[in-house]
Amino acid sequence: MAGAQASKKVRAGGGRERKLTPMLAQYLRVKEEAGDAILFFRLGDFYEMFFEDAERAAPILEVALTSRNKDDPDPIPMCGVPHHAVESYISKLLQADLKVALCDQVGDPAKSPGLVERDLVRIITPATVLDEGEGLQSARASHLCVLVPEEKGGGVAIATVDITTGAMRACRAADRALASEELARIAPREVLVPPGDSELRALAEEILPAVAERGAPDAARAKLVDAALAGFSLDGERGFAPAEREGLRRALAYVAETLRGGFDHLRPPARYEIADHLQLDLRSRRNLALVEGIDGRPHGSLWWALNETSTAMGARRLRDWLVYPLQDPARIEERLGTIESLIESPGLRRDLGGEFSAVGDFERLVARFGVGRAGPREAARLGRALRATEAIARLAGEVAPTDLMTHILQAAVAPPDLVEQIEATLADSLPVQLADGGVVRAGADEEVDRLRGLAEDAERLLAELEARERKATGISSLKIKHHRALGYFFDVTKPNLGLVPERFVRRQSLTSSERFATPELTELEQQLATADARCREREAEIFAALLEEIGSHEAGLAAQANALADLDVLVALAEVAHQRNYVRPEIHRGSAMEIREGRHPVVERTSAAGSFVANDALLDDSERQLVILTGPNMAGKSTYLRQVALITLMAHAGSFVPAAQARIPLTDRIWTRVGAGDDLVAGDSTFMVEMKETAAILGNLTGRTLVVLDEIGRGTSTYDGIAIAWAVAEYLHDFEPTPGTRTKTIFATHFHELVALAEERPRVVNASVSVREWKDDVLFLRKVVDGPASRSYGIAVARLAGVPEGVVARSRELLRQLEAGEGPGHEEGGQAFGRKPGNTRQIELFAPQGESLRSELAGLDVNSLTPLEALTRLAELVARAKEESGG
Ligand code: ADP
Repeated sequence: MAGAQASKKVRAGGGRERKLTPMLAQYLRVKEEAGDAILFFRLGDFYEMFFEDAERAAPILEVALTSRNKDDPDPIPMCGVPHHAVESYISKLLQADLKVALCDQVGDPAKSPGLVERDLVRIITPATVLDEGEGLQSARASHLCVLVPEEKGGGVAIATVDITTGAMRACRAADRALASEELARIAPREVLVPPGDSELRALAEEILPAVAERGAPDAARAKLVDAALAGFSLDGERGFAPAEREGLRRALAYVAETLRGGFDHLRPPARYEIADHLQLDLRSRRNLALVEGIDGRPHGSLWWALNETSTAMGARRLRDWLVYPLQDPARIEERLGTIESLIESPGLRRDLGGEFSAVGDFERLVARFGVGRAGPREAARLGRALRATEAIARLAGEVAPTDLMTHILQAAVAPPDLVEQIEATLADSLPVQLADGGVVRAGADEEVDRLRGLAEDAERLLAELEARERKATGISSLKIKHHRALGYFFDVTKPNLGLVPERFVRRQSLTSSERFATPELTELEQQLATADARCREREAEIFAALLEEIGSHEAGLAAQANALADLDVLVALAEVAHQRNYVRPEIHRGSAMEIREGRHPVVERTSAAGSFVANDALLDDSERQLVILTGPNMAGKSTYLRQVALITLMAHAGSFVPAAQARIPLTDRIWTRVGAGDDLVAGDSTFMVEMKETAAILGNLTGRTLVVLDEIGRGTSTYDGIAIAWAVAEYLHDFEPTPGTRTKTIFATHFHELVALAEERPRVVNASVSVREWKDDVLFLRKVVDGPASRSYGIAVARLAGVPEGVVARSRELLRQLEAGEGPGHEEGGQAFGRKPGNTRQIELFAPQGESLRSELAGLDVNSLTPLEALTRLAELVARAKEESGG
């Protein structure tokens, strides 16, 4: 398929059939394999692109588009980038949602007289970047997700692989909505869907644009992949479902396709259940700014506020803990207990932090050995990291032990002798590339020492020869110099040429000097070159043996990295808890939430010290199941709602929480709905979005769900807004998901009417964020108290915001008139006031002018109508409704 495409391009690019030069034929063969990726074809010191690839890439890379054969009537478009800077160009194309295929010389140019052999060495896609230069983000995982629909039912398997760490996982989502939610939680860099499955593709594209289609691997690749999978035992107690296995197969096949290597570093896949974690839908996660602020950047998120980790792997792990809060109280307690032990040892925490800096991104470092991208410097880093690990294990051993800590310490043990071997083998200062030589430490290997001795000898002999010839020829300025192509030579300046003896053989003439050799010099040069070459060969052998040794410890090192990442997070959370006065929450299986003096972890962090006002939150099944929270704009309602949700979530992640005391019921899901923000991208109006979210929430309630709602019904006119808010609140109160259980809700609203609900329903309580009037202004006290807000302070807030005094004064006057039952719009029952500008397009089901329609609808006896009559009546009513709403 790709082949047909490639040859078509030749025609498209050339306008006619071309006679292929051998190089072009080679290019087209490789391009066929590269498929839709932009092919970087190595020619000398450049990577060149041709045809359409060049035309697409040149403007993105900001390089000149030229042509290969300018005199030809059909020149081939081309552009190029220097090979040493290739990473930044790759990164640019990836950012433009393109993939890059690298084609390198694989044959030895010296040994092949004709065209050098070239081959595809790697395809770089968003999920297969391996270096930060290519755009790899250190604080984010780099997941590839594969979606496979299950054969029966609407379930979808999700397989995930992160080649930068070797981690693999799989789970199944019971339906597509859950699959979408889980995909959003994973936040992959790239997704594969089955060819032609437009529904799954659309689902994936909602999360990110990098979606590719891949089916089951072809026979050759399947063999490779199945052999690798057979190595991991995928059966056992929590065996993988068929679709999950297929997902893993496709993921591995894609890794093979793009990395062109084995998958030695991949760790055995882990299977998980979505329901083992507290769930949040995409919007709730965004509303709570869990890992990203409103602008999509980490700043301002919960992750950002808590991230006191010392390593990038720890930062990634913290993110994982926050998006996968636990459901198993025992595991939560293990984390909390360990954090508590760490809090009690402040000095130790500091020392641990220092050692962690030396450990660095151990997880990705280890994985680099698996993909064959580790040079001498990486090996040395590994050695230093292992040393630091030893220190960490010693320090952490002093902390009061918990099961989790014991487990971490067992896994964190460095493989015996490996660190000694690395240190004993490698020199102190290392070149970037092995080929540059000087990798092996002096004294580590007799042969290397001997060869280096020979080379040094030769250098000494060169110096001696120079001195000797200077004397013999009488040319005092005679020097032995070196040139890359020419090798060693005697350099004689013009004025001294008369003194050059017969035995000197002329090699080259320059304007100001001439270059000569002698048999003795040539022999010395050869001795030097041979010793050097042999030394490098020997160094390469030794380094390969070291890599092999490291490779044999791969699994242990990966487990060690995993344990260290956990420990880094625990130390960070202990540090945060200690510095900011967090408490250990109590997670229980009952229904009551009791947060005393809770604070918002992010707002507190960004406000002046001591200025954040702490608030209690009390919810239960019997008396305080639904709290209606009123208060003017800017009072602090949203902050309070989010704070309750975040404290609940943090407790499930196993973190201490910003409060004086916290008893948190085990919670399976948090729903949040927050007023602001149109989803313009999805093309829905604010109100439609709001109602869709409300529908999703009401359809998914359990007795363990926490719901925090902000301003339901705001996007429409006052009447139907209130009606909807009221009905939603009633439903949340009355619904009994399973006998004896209730969903707990905090419902913030600016519809003051809703406070009456407390009189009608037993488990509804009113609360408000208190404000005090002072002259014509309001003072925000930020204190949540029981009881409804006394009135709306909208005008005072408008004044505070700088609305002109004249407008403010007029508003007060109008308000007085309205409250007294007079004034504009009053005859419409306040309708003209309630309706906000811009909302006139909303259909007003319950608006007065719809009254007659309504009574007509209510009077219809559906059972007595024939289908045809029903249709005719419906058409009539629709026409009337359109007329009345002026549309
Ligand atoms: P509302 O939802 O009632 O309009 P917000 O929750 O958006 O109000 O809060 C308004 C402002 O008050 C925000 O800038 C927030 O940082 C600040 N704020 C809210 N709650 C508190 C608090 N408890 N202590 C200190 N400042 C707060």
